[in-house]
Amino acid sequence: MSISELNPPLTDADLPEVYHSVESEVRSYCRSWPTTMAVAQGSWLTDVDGRRYLDFFAGAGALNYGHNNPALKKPLLDYLASDMIVHSLDMATAAKTNFLETFERLILRPRGLDYKVQFPGPTGANSVEAALKLARKVTGRESIINFTNAFHGMTLGALSVTGNSMKRAGAGIPLVHSTPMPYDNYFGGATEDFHWFERVLDDSGGGLNHPAAVIVETVQGEGGLNVARAEWLQALAELCRRRDILLIVDDVQMGCGRTGRFFSFEEAGIVPDIVTLSKSISGYGLPMALTLFRRELDVWTPGEHNGTFRGHNPAFVTATKALETYWASDAFANETEAKGRHVRDRLEAIAQNHEGVSARGRGMAQGLKFAETSQAGEVCRAAFDRGVTMETSGPRDEVVKLLPPLTTTVEDLDKGIDILAESVAATLP
Ligand SMILES: *Cc1c(COP(=O)(O)O)cnc(C)c1O
Repeated sequence: MSISELNPPLTDADLPEVYHSVESEVRSYCRSWPTTMAVAQGSWLTDVDGRRYLDFFAGAGALNYGHNNPALKKPLLDYLASDMIVHSLDMATAAKTNFLETFERLILRPRGLDYKVQFPGPTGANSVEAALKLARKVTGRESIINFTNAFHGMTLGALSVTGNSMKRAGAGIPLVHSTPMPYDNYFGGATEDFHWFERVLDDSGGGLNHPAAVIVETVQGEGGLNVARAEWLQALAELCRRRDILLIVDDVQMGCGRTGRFFSFEEAGIVPDIVTLSKSISGYGLPMALTLFRRELDVWTPGEHNGTFRGHNPAFVTATKALETYWASDAFANETEAKGRHVRDRLEAIAQNHEGVSARGRGMAQGLKFAETSQAGEVCRAAFDRGVTMETSGPRDEVVKLLPPLTTTVEDLDKGIDILAESVAATLP
């Protein structure tokens, strides 16, 4: 049974001429999905020709609560209609007061996290830059340890701790003061993971400057859905503690409930020194980011890390409402974990039917890895033609990554995975 009508394949040439004549060649997602999107609700996008797409990418993880979530839209519209402050630099506003109080009450205090909150500018890369700067300022050291296949953003500091060679090449200058170490399972589990890192730290001939910080993702989203085991994260946190190295967890993509709990590191029971959050923190796709750090690390002087857009009040309004709606109890996290297990079971079943395909991920960040580099892209393309948007990840784009809104119903998850299964069958020999 075919579960979806096959759309006539769209190509880049189907986009309005202005994308070719005016927008830079750097554009990317409109190449994967070459149609003009018009409206969206929940997990569904509709293009200008009325074609509907099930969104299994969710703004790269910026829409964990779906598009135009009505619970968040109402306070946003009320706020805008009342002429309350939209732009405020980082002046005090009622929207910001509410957000800080709510974040403290619903997220930090119940988890026993004594973090200060910095608004570093509205993107994930802004948050990573602030984290790196702070770690260097606190320790007086310059070098940072990052991991193979890490992704931390596209500004120079964030790129310096990112693995992808194509993205690094875009910097045009040397990316320095960072040293990559093997991520969990980099050697297929064959080598003791911290052997090299610990050894060179100890060895006066190891050539490693004592690092200011280690920056790590608990699940590498862009890096191909590599999942660090809880034991590995615990051992890393312990190593950092013993050697007086700050631990930064980049939770820009895996935070805000993507893996289940609000922070992706909760499951491992570790407490990072510094945490970055962005993507879904506003809850509505509005740009917003936070850098969190242990109170003792707050050595900034006023205005030392400054910026124009660090207080987008409409984002505070939706962020506050998202916390109240989804994070006042454990129910949403439990539901996400259950959905994640369901998605995983279904992906395992698809993998079993096809040689060289394996399931990977954690929580509601799940995917399929393919043996041949081009296959994941072809599967995504076939899925788009059948009405599902999903993207590839991994150093060779060999992984199909599913990031549906966490609010997606099980029925819609099944619908999308049925289409994925059909797309795999249509693509693989
Ligand atoms: C997306 C992402 C970033 C960068 O965020 P931008 O908002 O694109 O600058 C940083 N770290 C991780 C883990 C990400 O997924």
